[in-house]
Amino acid sequence: MTTIEIQERDIVGENLITELVAANRILVRQGVLDAFGHVSARSAPGASTFLLSRNLAPGSVTRNDVMTHDLDGVVLDDDRPAYLERFIHAEIYRRRPDVMSVVHSHSAAVVPFSVVEAPFRPVIHMAGFLNPEGTPVFEISDFAGDGSDLLVTNGQLGSDLAGALGDGNVALMRGHGSIAVGSSLPEVVYRAVYTEVNARAQLEASVLGTPRFLSRGEAATANGSVGGQALRAWNVWRAQVAKEVGSDD
Ligand code: MN
Repeated sequence: MTTIEIQERDIVGENLITELVAANRILVRQGVLDAFGHVSARSAPGASTFLLSRNLAPGSVTRNDVMTHDLDGVVLDDDRPAYLERFIHAEIYRRRPDVMSVVHSHSAAVVPFSVVEAPFRPVIHMAGFLNPEGTPVFEISDFAGDGSDLLVTNGQLGSDLAGALGDGNVALMRGHGSIAVGSSLPEVVYRAVYTEVNARAQLEASVLGTPRFLSRGEAATANGSVGGQALRAWNVWRAQVAKEVGSDD
């Protein structure tokens, strides 16, 4: 297997496009994305544009499929169809200047927590980025009424969803999926993967008994120490998809 040692400072410009393709492939391999869902990256710190594939299954995305979008969800200099839910990304980037990357997924173990009263909370040390008090749930019927298809297909709903996320790292979307945000592609991929892992752990723990969740202090400390390991995970996963992504070296 190819050894890859990528640093965050390397993920810019043309490399950002390549690493976004890698993120798509990694998230498919890790069971977070399937035929649906998407991952995006802000074009550069402070930029009002972001990179996202055209409307395509994440497992099929190549460099040529990546299009530049603005914060109104308009695709720049490209006529190919865009994702219906690109407004999720656009409105989060608008509201959160700190966010450099966004994942929207329907990952299977997380969705059940979006439809029950029991809050989704961190039970494992790798998931200290989750809100220890409970992950917010975006209730789309509060904004779209009771006849919607549950999809976030315009800027207003994207803005409402970004509001539900607030300053957090993850939000659930009732009966639909979730979003994760991060300060880099490696960080958001790490968070999306471990959101799914935490969901399985919380469910399994709940079958055995009453889970003891990470305390506020533990979550904060674990997020500070473990969160810094995102790049280590990225480099392992990145090497696994190297053949699919190709190389520009
Ligand atoms: Mn969706």
